[in-house]
This record gives sequence, structure tokens and C-alpha cells, in this order.
Amino acid sequence: ASKLGSRKEKTLAMIKPDATDKMGTIIQLIYDAGLTVTKAKMTALSRKEAMDFYAEHQSKSFFNNLVQFITSGPVVAMEILGDEAVTAWRRLLGPTDSSVAQNEAPDSVRANFGTDGTKNAGHGSDSLASAARELEFFFPSTGRGPSNTAKYSDCT
Ligand code: ADP
Ligand code: MG
Repeated sequence: ASKLGSRKEKTLAMIKPDATDKMGTIIQLIYDAGLTVTKAKMTALSRKEAMDFYAEHQSKSFFNNLVQFITSGPVVAMEILGDEAVTAWRRLLGPTDSSVAQNEAPDSVRANFGTDGTKNAGHGSDSLASAARELEFFFPSTGRGPSNTAKYSDCT
């Protein structure tokens, strides 16, 4: 929280395996919306990691397909910072089902780069609490390597 009337938030954006070839366009959309990328990592999830990340959906009928899909190739995880970033990034993504997105939000990431209800190009945290958990999942504060703890984003 800095400027009066603004709510600076961090959220976790993930470009799913079906859309990593569109990462340039998607990152441009993020900046064009007034948001900033403060961390980024291209990685691949193991089956165990995918099941952990999507644990809230473990009882759903689509869970196995979802885990299969999300482990089918690399993903790009990003920390996104900006005014109401949680909602703003989910608005850019559009509705979960890509065909619904094509009807209801034709300019959205899922409308343009997704295929169906599972292969839908991107993920966005659904709340500040989810964002905190999902950012720690991809960018652990105890992780090794240079500057894994936030610096840039914390002083923006
Ligand atoms: P969102 O990603 O919009 O927050 P959910 O959290 O409900 O949506 O679901 C997580 C992911 O699981 C979705 O992005 C999508 O890839 C997949 N999924 C959700 N609902 C379905 C469904 N009914 N059929 C197939 N896959 C689904
Ligand atoms: Mg969700």
C-alpha cells in the first residue's frame, strides 16, 4: 500500500504448457495493463508438485487430466505486482473454460491462447491467501540461488 486509493498486491501468474510459446505476448499484456513482473521462473512440475499445487482440486473429476496437462511441458511462473493484482490478472486471463472465454472475453489470454476447459493457457491465484501460498510454492523464501527473497517488489 503506497498511493492513496490504490491497493498494491502480489499474485502468482503461471503460463501453462500450452501457451509458453506465447509468453512474450502474455508478458506484454501484463505490462500494458499497468502491472509489473517482479519475479519470473521457467520450470517443469513433477507429478507430485502438480498434485500439491492443485491439492484443492484433488477430489474433482478433472484432477487427473489437470495434473497430466500441467506436467506435459514447461511452465512460466511469475510474481505480478500492481493495483488489485489478484483480480486484475484473473480479468486478463478470462473465464476458466477457453470456449466460454471466447464468447465472454474475446480479448482475454484464455480466449486467444487456450483450447478448452483444461488447456486454458494460464493460471492466476484466486485470493491474496492463495497468492501467498502459490508464490511461496514457486519462489520459496528458503530457496537457494541469488536473491530468492524479494527485494525489487518489496520496495516498489
Ligand atoms: P481457475 O484456473 O480459473 O482458477 P479452477 O481453480 O476452478 O479454475 O480450476 C483449476 C484448473 O483446473 C483450471 O484452470 C483448468 O485448467 C482445470 N479445470 C477447472 N475446471 C475444469 C473442468 N470442469 N473440466 C476440466 N478442467 C477443469
Ligand atoms: Mg483456481
